[in-house]
Amino acid sequence: MNSLQVSGRWRSQRRFGVNLDHRYTVYYWPINIDARCMRCGSHFIFHSNPAVNYEKDEKVGGYRVNYQPTACKIGGQGACPKCGKQVDHIMWPERAYFKFETSGGVVWAWDKQFLDVLRARVAGDRVLERQLCLDNFHYHYFLTRLPKHVVVKRHRRGILSKIDNLLRQLSQTVALFRHEPDRFVIQQLEN
Ligand SMILES: [Zn+2]
Repeated sequence: MNSLQVSGRWRSQRRFGVNLDHRYTVYYWPINIDARCMRCGSHFIFHSNPAVNYEKDEKVGGYRVNYQPTACKIGGQGACPKCGKQVDHIMWPERAYFKFETSGGVVWAWDKQFLDVLRARVAGDRVLERQLCLDNFHYHYFLTRLPKHVVVKRHRRGILSKIDNLLRQLSQTVALFRHEPDRFVIQQLEN
């Protein structure tokens, strides 16, 4: 391996102080996840069981992060408001509602708020990103674990247009405020 390759490899590992990872590593998911019905494709809210994120580390007397793979089964419960299909788990990210394919791989977000944070990062809007991350420190974790294909510059325009497509679709649906102050329930418009 010559020095150029070494240098290129090093540069691809870390950019803007953020580790570029080739996988998403899940160590948190929200209680309410925006999912897509496996039967009819409609949006529904999946109420997840909490992730076990920390394990006691006897050696250091504290807790360490329990890393989990992204392609995972998330237990919980949910029912599709349209067809009535009930589920006790979802496969992630297959059932993600906010999800699309790019040339580099799959891009997804847990919910609308995570999608907003993702958009701010991809658009390079550092001010908005910081503001959003102040609301919830999990957003920051989400961003630091984004895989390389989401953050490299050459994919930026394509990802932005796909995020904006998703947001446009969303604006054509009715958003209702529910119990949780920061949660919207999306109801598909009947036509
Ligand atoms: Zn359904």
